[in-house]
Amino acid sequence: MAGKFSKCCMMLCCTSKKISREDMATEGSYEDAIAGLTNLLSQRSDLGDVAAAKIKQITAELQAAGSTGFDPVERIKTGFTHFKKEKYEKNPELFSALSRGQSPKFLVFACSDSRVCPSHILDFQPGEAFIVRNIANMVPPYDLKKYAGMGAAIEYAVLHLKVENIVVIGHSRCGGIKGLMSIPDDGTIASEFIENWVQICSPAKSKVKTESSSLPFDDQCTTCEKEAVNVSLGNLLTYPFVREAVVNDTVSLKGAHYNFINGSFELWDLDFKVSPSLAVV
Ligand SMILES: [Zn+2]
Repeated sequence: MAGKFSKCCMMLCCTSKKISREDMATEGSYEDAIAGLTNLLSQRSDLGDVAAAKIKQITAELQAAGSTGFDPVERIKTGFTHFKKEKYEKNPELFSALSRGQSPKFLVFACSDSRVCPSHILDFQPGEAFIVRNIANMVPPYDLKKYAGMGAAIEYAVLHLKVENIVVIGHSRCGGIKGLMSIPDDGTIASEFIENWVQICSPAKSKVKTESSSLPFDDQCTTCEKEAVNVSLGNLLTYPFVREAVVNDTVSLKGAHYNFINGSFELWDLDFKVSPSLAVV
């Protein structure tokens, strides 16, 4: 239960920004946790209605979690036990080779969405794919300061691991793309990070709004999921080492879209005429 409680503490801190984790570090049972939350609310009248509503929600979540009996530690243990028995111990040669190093053929960009893990949908085995996951599977343009983490991953994969293929995989019902498509024309944003991040693919949104405005919103989002992949492919070419590898034909860039509604997967090569971002190359 401690795990559940600390997760909720984090949620509350994020909301109020006034409560430290220590404030919430109540020892004891699930009932104690509920009592602690209620007590905290009564002591902190400055939390206001928003926090009160949040605590009500957290309480409901705790109760729901308690009723399902979900134990995250047990789930992790069970998962690792299964992996070790079914994969690790059955493939000693593979894991022995991997203990000495990795030489994946793929650098893959995929969304953080829990439904689209590339290792599952493409059956990548350990050592096959170097994977970067983020909101809406976006590749930002080369920027040493803003996107250093992304640059480091791409640099490592291309220059050190010498991957031969870079694949950007979009997917159906992508919340990040829906968020991008939902940003109002006046640019008003409501989140601290999400909307700034997804605007990396604003050229895709502009293209869809220009060329597909007659489509229903959901269809516009689907089109944007694919166009955003093309923008990311274009952005990859803003990294000099990627550009050089593509020109030398040692790396190929591919776009993809996984549709989990009908269970299909599209794959396409980089089309230099499609991506709006290619103007920077
Ligand atoms: Zn997504």
